[in-house]
Amino acid sequence: MMETVLRQGLSALSLPEEGVPALLRYWELLAEKNQVMNLTAITDPVDAARLHFLDSAALPALEDFRGKRVVDVGTGAGFPGLPLKILEPSIRLTLLDAQRKRVDFLREVCEDLGLADVECVHGRAEAFAADHREGFDIAVSRAVASLPVLAELCLPLVNVGGRFLAMKSVDTEEELNAAGRAVSLLGGRLEKPIDYVISGTDIPRRLVIMTKISETPKKYPRTFAKIKKNPL
Ligand code: SAH
Repeated sequence: MMETVLRQGLSALSLPEEGVPALLRYWELLAEKNQVMNLTAITDPVDAARLHFLDSAALPALEDFRGKRVVDVGTGAGFPGLPLKILEPSIRLTLLDAQRKRVDFLREVCEDLGLADVECVHGRAEAFAADHREGFDIAVSRAVASLPVLAELCLPLVNVGGRFLAMKSVDTEEELNAAGRAVSLLGGRLEKPIDYVISGTDIPRRLVIMTKISETPKKYPRTFAKIKKNPL
């Protein structure tokens, strides 16, 4: 059942189905580890196929990732970064998360699946920026923070001409309005968001897109305490 949902969902997005066995194995490892640590609230395989894998699959359906250096900020159990890597193997991927146990799990998955060019990094985005400023073509992130906070965590990591793609629910008008100022202070430009439904469902989602148009001033990102207390 999960396999069918995945195959149909990918095919509807015109994405190759070669990745399906790897996605199924990833789910097997995730469901097993989820028994002993908190990785996801989703336990039903069909729900996982839709809400984790096919939701992540929206990214390569909407943007050309081929050969790009990609960072997934606050990847948790690997979403959207790992499905993206499985579906578009040419990317060079960094999975970044502040929780060590989650990063350890991701390393196990990458090894099990034999994925090349994936780095699993334990750390906070605002600290990671010190060494990896403008080191990526694309940053992606799902379910980590509000847009003004996310912009400060992610835009410093993207090179000029690159993009930051934030996966959001459709209910983000207020956040979008609030983010405009932050995005321009950080050297970005807010593009028109793309609304879509998760493939094979009627669940609406929104991709918020920021293009990096100039270098981020060196004073950003600030410490997380400052970002949180006083979002741009
Ligand atoms: N992106 C995943 C996980 C969302 S949960 C998904 O959509 O399923 C949010 C994750 O972001 C947590 O794992 C948390 O550890 C991480 N996180 C929150 N703030 C962070 C920061 N500043 N730097 C890196 N990771 C962060």
